[in-house]
Amino acid sequence: GIKGQYGKHFAAYDDKLRGELLRQQAIIDSMETALSDGQFLIYLQPKYRIRDNKLVGAEALVRWNHPEWGLQFPDEFIPLFEKNGFIAKLDQFIWDKACAILKEWDDRGYLPISISVNVSRADIYNINISEILMGTVRRYGLRPSRLHLEITESAYTEQPCQIIETVRRLRELGFVIEMDDFGSGYSSLNMLNQMPLDILKLDMKFVQGETGKSVGQGILQTIVELARRMRLSVVAEGVETKEQLDRVTETGCDYAQGYYFAKPMPAQDLEALLKDRKAEERQKEDECSEHP
Ligand code: C2E
Ligand code: MG
Ligand code: MG
Ligand code: MG
Repeated sequence: GIKGQYGKHFAAYDDKLRGELLRQQAIIDSMETALSDGQFLIYLQPKYRIRDNKLVGAEALVRWNHPEWGLQFPDEFIPLFEKNGFIAKLDQFIWDKACAILKEWDDRGYLPISISVNVSRADIYNINISEILMGTVRRYGLRPSRLHLEITESAYTEQPCQIIETVRRLRELGFVIEMDDFGSGYSSLNMLNQMPLDILKLDMKFVQGETGKSVGQGILQTIVELARRMRLSVVAEGVETKEQLDRVTETGCDYAQGYYFAKPMPAQDLEALLKDRKAEERQKEDECSEHP
């Protein structure tokens, strides 16, 4: 009867909930060890300037290489770390790694790129964030502008005044400020106007078109024009196909990132790309001097 059906339903729900709680507890129990054991890895996804198809930067995306569970993606653990506060430690670790990589590559003579790091809402509420970030870039002798700070649009919705103050200070220090996932649903145009910002990173849905009904070219065009007026650069993220690249190129986006170019990869794989580029340019120089 009905009672039996519901009973079964609740039992299944109970199991699911219990499973989820156990999973969360296992993550909490292992996160500190994971950090000290080097299980958190920095993956980098290249970002290209559309105008000349040049690799100009990369986004740092964390991965957790767990000894039993294998490679874990951020959606599995970042939301939990944002709740329990561990995100602050993890992000500082990623920022440090990003700067260490930039310094190493500068020393090897590759053309300098920037690295965009994700900054969570909890990070911006930390009153020491500017000291922490300045300390990190100084430790490696880097200018702050080599680090782009990606702040997700929704981070601006709560206590916007406090956030704006902190972000303004970071920008004055020379960090490049990117608004991540722009258009994902929270910010008003009025708020955008008050934000200290350098770069607008379009939410993937503008690039890919929403399932079923694609976001009109008109809306995309309008956002890019608005960004132009505000002197912001525009990054199209989630570019997966040539058609999507053509679309964002026509619209006037400045940079593109997505599987069409490359998936996020370990640092040494991105280094290989930079090496190739260096070799290519040396070859070009040689050709020029041979045939003046
Ligand atoms: P996000 O910052 O918006 O990063 C973009 C996400 O889209 C990444 O997922 C990336 O791998 C994925 N992506 C890139 N190109 C494509 C594409 O062409 N198609 C599709 N479908 N996806 C693409 P990922 O690495 O799983 O990260 C998910 C989210 O987790 C990030 O979204 C960011 O909010 C958060 N996150 C990742 N790493 C960190 C971190 O170190 N710190 C913090 N606080 N958050 C992080
Ligand atoms: Mg991001
Ligand atoms: Mg994004
Ligand atoms: Mg995001």
